[in-house]
Amino acid sequence: KIHNELQELKGNIRVYCRIRPFLPGQTVMQSIVESIGENGELTVANPSKQGKDAEVYSDIQPLIRSVLDGYNVCIFAYGQTGSGKTYTMTGPDGASEEDWGVNYRALNDLFRISQTRNRIFTYEVSVQMVEIYNEQVLVYSCLVKMNAVPDASMHPVTSTIDVVELMEIGLKNRAKGATALNERSSRSHSVVTIHVRGTDTKTGASLRGSLHLVDLAGSERVDRSEVTGDRLKEAQHINKSLSALGDVIFALSQKSAHVPYRNSKLTQVLQSSLGGHAKTLMFVQLNPELNSYSESTSTLKFAERVS
Ligand code: ADP
Ligand code: MG
Repeated sequence: KIHNELQELKGNIRVYCRIRPFLPGQTVMQSIVESIGENGELTVANPSKQGKDAEVYSDIQPLIRSVLDGYNVCIFAYGQTGSGKTYTMTGPDGASEEDWGVNYRALNDLFRISQTRNRIFTYEVSVQMVEIYNEQVLVYSCLVKMNAVPDASMHPVTSTIDVVELMEIGLKNRAKGATALNERSSRSHSVVTIHVRGTDTKTGASLRGSLHLVDLAGSERVDRSEVTGDRLKEAQHINKSLSALGDVIFALSQKSAHVPYRNSKLTQVLQSSLGGHAKTLMFVQLNPELNSYSESTSTLKFAERVS
């Protein structure tokens, strides 16, 4: 049994813990989480409580409003492979609107809010997807600027679907470059970046906001004695970039004068949306099985350090 406090901070970094349910066909033996206390305190031994998807996603809309107000926002999923990171960010395969993940909800809100809330600004939105693999940044698709003009006929949902298509094209490009996509996808960070530029139609003044949606590489530790060559190299790159991310967020939380962004490609790519005029939301993902105990502990330690 371990106890762990996950604080939900009211400040610029919010951390949510999401425990993947047992999967169909999986024997429910013993699960790791026993209860979730009022203050987010987690008693790890046997999970019974699952946040409803609506709760999980309740912070997205206010964050999207912030992007349109000129903030830089970053939403991450962190956890070992199989803990539900992609499920949280993208949703299940062929998801309908109800079970959309963070990415689609965020985009849909972005288009919807940019058109309905404010008749003063026009917004220009651009989207880019990159993958970071072995400290290399691979751009696998870029969009097209879209103008969100008040009262124009551009429909939020149509625009979201355009972006969904873009993401699918991106994923196909990514598949072409990788022999074993599934393997590879857990070994790379996937980052969707949305830049927004708002122009005040009366004064011509402009503001810029950005949104990074990040499905991180699996955080599992690889046994050095068992892997060699490419696997070892991948593992070292992942360790390095995830600890660099932890160091940056930790430095920001301590209000350190020096924030070590330069230590990895991941933190360089995300620099604008970490710190300063930025807000961060992190989904900390756990596997429910008892045999994930030590990975879960290390995931929670990461969460504790950055929150
Ligand atoms: P990761 O991206 O962290 O490797 P996945 O998102 O691929 O993990 O999730 C692993 C499996 O668990 C997938 O089959 C996924 O559909 C399922 N899964 C994850 N989270 C949930 C959830 N909240 N509800 C139902 N199924 C889930
Ligand atoms: Mg995944």
